[in-house]
Amino acid sequence: MKNAYDFVVIGAGPAGLMIAKELSGAGQDVLLVDVKRDIPKINRSCCTMLINEPNTHGETVRFVDNDLHFEKTGFTVKYGHPYVKMVKSSRLSPGGYKLTMGNEKEGVALPYTKEIILRNLLEESMANGCDVLTETAGIRAENIDGGVKVTLRDNYTRSLKEIRCKAAFAADGVNSQIVTGLELFKTRKYIGSFRVASYFLDEVDYPYWDSWITCVGKGHTPWGRGQVYMVPKYLPDAKEGDKPILDVFCGTPCGMPAKMGLDWFLNDGPFNEWFTNAKIVHKAACVLNFYTCIMNPVEGNIVVVGDAAAFIETYCQSALMYGYRAAHAALKVQDKGKGYEDYTNFWRESFEYCWPGEIEKALQGFGLGNMQDEELDYIFSLTDNEMYEGYVSENTAPYVMQKAIMSHIDQIRKERPQIAELIEKHWSASAEDIVKG
Ligand SMILES: Cc1cc2nc3c(=O)[nH]c(=O)nc-3n(C[C@H](O)[C@H](O)[C@H](O)COP(=O)(O)OP(=O)(O)OC[C@H]3O[C@@H](n4cnc5c(N)ncnc54)[C@H](O)[C@@H]3O)c2cc1C
Repeated sequence: MKNAYDFVVIGAGPAGLMIAKELSGAGQDVLLVDVKRDIPKINRSCCTMLINEPNTHGETVRFVDNDLHFEKTGFTVKYGHPYVKMVKSSRLSPGGYKLTMGNEKEGVALPYTKEIILRNLLEESMANGCDVLTETAGIRAENIDGGVKVTLRDNYTRSLKEIRCKAAFAADGVNSQIVTGLELFKTRKYIGSFRVASYFLDEVDYPYWDSWITCVGKGHTPWGRGQVYMVPKYLPDAKEGDKPILDVFCGTPCGMPAKMGLDWFLNDGPFNEWFTNAKIVHKAACVLNFYTCIMNPVEGNIVVVGDAAAFIETYCQSALMYGYRAAHAALKVQDKGKGYEDYTNFWRESFEYCWPGEIEKALQGFGLGNMQDEELDYIFSLTDNEMYEGYVSENTAPYVMQKAIMSHIDQIRKERPQIAELIEKHWSASAEDIVKG
């Protein structure tokens, strides 16, 4: 490793790897740094569904010849592995009633294997000559005369090292350490924190292999808060024709142990009979600190990309897309002296959580779980045999749910006026109120 590079990329998730691949492919001298030992290995919970709804965060992504094709930006990411087509997305109440969105033709979302994408991008970057430093944390990035000084810390010796570069990329995820040291961090508002634990389970006796299942209601966790969801997907060593495993997640507000919630759901929850013979083949977890988006994700020659700039998550596909755009903006700056405006403007215009009201809307989709189980059973009993057109998307699914429930509001007002009042209030609750439960 040298003391100076053209570019330093901190974080080798989808965003950072995409940047490293594009810049090294353009002949630039690049250092990619990650705190992990094995970059493609997934320790951080992620459903990894391709959100195939057209124009998600300004882009339409499809599988073409088994690779991920980004139609609008115009690039392809190598995949070459089985993926799942889910045709339904159901919210499941503790009593087993459902609110279902469906799309038989396109699928509601297509879960794939994140490890494969990361491995392919890492191999391509290294083949392009990118230097990769693992087990090293990016601590700080500071604008200095003529570029950026990046401070790194070795995980084991704790020794610090300074690297100089023309520009640095903060791609270190939703709890970005690099962002907390920048001025632009002061523009953010803290919303709340969440913990997630997840297991890949084999040998599950499960009725919904074609669906994304979100368990909504207090009865799914021992403390009555949080959310459980399930997604079928393939292991990294799967072959075409293999059976998918089930990735089961429990997300809880911080202060409550997500793993305890997950174990309780599997052993004592309302659907525990599905898991009697289940075998855990992999475990993952994460903590998410939610802040409002960074509206101007470039400070001098430091560019913030992917989840590091976002409220919750950009999705893997959009981290790849913003990474691709950030890399090409940096090449333009190098060539023409300017180019970050396009990246910033596109970010603000395309990333839905930058838009007023979007955070509240998405949280309203989650907030239904704050109702009593009996109330949810009643509401979902009205939609149980219906199917609404929709996709898995934090930004559009809450609308579909609202439409589905409101289509029964006259009946609810007549039969259960208190529930009708609660529902009508729910759609105008603030983000803070929903997070507080
Ligand atoms: C529960 C859950 C479910 C999700 N489901 C989906 C889904 O269905 N579909 C989808 O597309 N997305 C999903 N996501 C979102 C997705 O995981 C992220 O949007 C995506 O991984 C963001 O990519 P990124 O490169 O910006 O950040 P990350 O993937 O978080 O990568 C950041 C990298 O930086 C490294 N790092 C962190 N700090 C440092 C540091 N200080 N120094 C050096 N390296 C560091 C990390 O080790 C990591 O490799 C989900 C997320 C969660 C939590």
